[in-house]
Amino acid sequence: MILWNMLFPNRCLICGNVIEIDKPVCDNCSNSFSIEPYIQTIPNGCLCVSAFDHSRKYRKYMLDYKFDNKKYYYKNYAAVINIIVNEVWGDIKFDYYTSVPTHKDKIKKRGYHQTRLIAVNSADLKHCKYKPLLIQTKNNKSQHSLSAAERKLNAKNIYAFSNKCNITGKTILLIDDVVTTGATLSECADILLENGAKAVYCAAINR
Ligand SMILES: [Zn+2]
Repeated sequence: MILWNMLFPNRCLICGNVIEIDKPVCDNCSNSFSIEPYIQTIPNGCLCVSAFDHSRKYRKYMLDYKFDNKKYYYKNYAAVINIIVNEVWGDIKFDYYTSVPTHKDKIKKRGYHQTRLIAVNSADLKHCKYKPLLIQTKNNKSQHSLSAAERKLNAKNIYAFSNKCNITGKTILLIDDVVTTGATLSECADILLENGAKAVYCAAINR
């Protein structure tokens, strides 16, 4: 990981200057980049913290990350997750970090698993273990084009426990890129709770 970070350093999301691994932007750009941790209760009763309002310029960064091949933003976003989780739940000891899964066809098309990259690297910053605890069994429509009722249906019965490790009694941080109604996070968190997790907290970049 250390060599990797030397070869591919973290760069300021705005100006591109090389920065420390735990920062999303450089000091010069920090004035135009305000992280505002916001906590919402998702439909299953779990809490989700998110960093940015998706309706502002942060929407463009996210679209660039997901659809414009700006894969390297995952480091900036991992730093963002680390900052908001430390600020809101700094006293919670997480056993595992995991992420909302993406169907393998979508990963193949994009070339990378955008949410997993963020989660793996934020777990690293926190010195916590990342585990791929969930899988997506069916390729559903993208949630962003759907109404609230449609999102709920669309997220139903398409995720499953990966059975990769025993999570009985574990406290888990579940990461997604964007939270809207929280339907997807609720489905995923419920699967973790049904498989023995003691508590599931959620974190997302945009809301
Ligand atoms: Zn900068």
